Amino acid sequence: MSIRIINTEVCQNCKKETCAFIDRVTKIDSVFASEGTVCPTGALQANPSQQNPFTKKECFDCGLCVGYCNKSNLEIENEANKFNLEYCNSFGMNALVSNYLNKIFPFAANSNRNSSVLFDGYVEIGEEKEAFVEVDEKDALECLRNLLGDFLLYRGQYANEVNTGLIVLTEIPPRGSSNVYTVIERMRMFPNLESKNIFITTFSMLKYLFLHPKNDSVVFENVFYNPLKETIEEYTERITKETGVCFSNLK
Ligand code: SF4
Ligand code: SF4
Repeated sequence: MSIRIINTEVCQNCKKETCAFIDRVTKIDSVFASEGTVCPTGALQANPSQQNPFTKKECFDCGLCVGYCNKSNLEIENEANKFNLEYCNSFGMNALVSNYLNKIFPFAANSNRNSSVLFDGYVEIGEEKEAFVEVDEKDALECLRNLLGDFLLYRGQYANEVNTGLIVLTEIPPRGSSNVYTVIERMRMFPNLESKNIFITTFSMLKYLFLHPKNDSVVFENVFYNPLKETIEEYTERITKETGVCFSNLK
């Protein structure tokens, strides 16, 4: 996969540079400030026609700049649904996820840049419902522990009770390889957790949804994996059929 500038002149005359900078409000140390840069690794720091960020090793083809260009002047060639996060630290990963989710759903924020908020991210999923988001490369159980803590800590603090949690990983852990599924099955036996729904997704699934926006609003239950509703094989088959893309092992 590679990214290409369609018309260099369009970039040279571009005033907004939304591929590099977005004007989203977020909370940093209790002060509202602009989210700032789009690129999660710093490969792209200004107008791409001035610096060609796509040849840098830090560019891992996440596609954020493509989706945020206000003139559709960036193009992906040989799109692949895998990428590596080698040059992306945990803050970069949270920002990446929040920027994907913010285009897929009505609103999302990279919330843990404010040290008083513990969850990695927050997303509005429609019908006055919200979800907490926890992000990690591999550790599903750690994300789940954090989500359970988020549910209990912030219980009663929002107008709408948050009943949904989203775990974002490099790949969906196979059944039997992680205790995460046992905990998800048992957590409904505990008071205050019986109505919670946990979904799992991957960076590449978010990237796909971000780069292929639909006219209809995206339904959480349709696109993310709910371990209590289906097997990974059933989910993979369903998603592959719907998207026409082979998400093998959902990496
Ligand atoms: S890529 Fe798009 S947003 Fe960025 S400078 Fe070029 S035209 Fe402007
Ligand atoms: S594709 Fe992603 S990593 Fe590469 S320059 Fe664009 S935003 Fe940065």
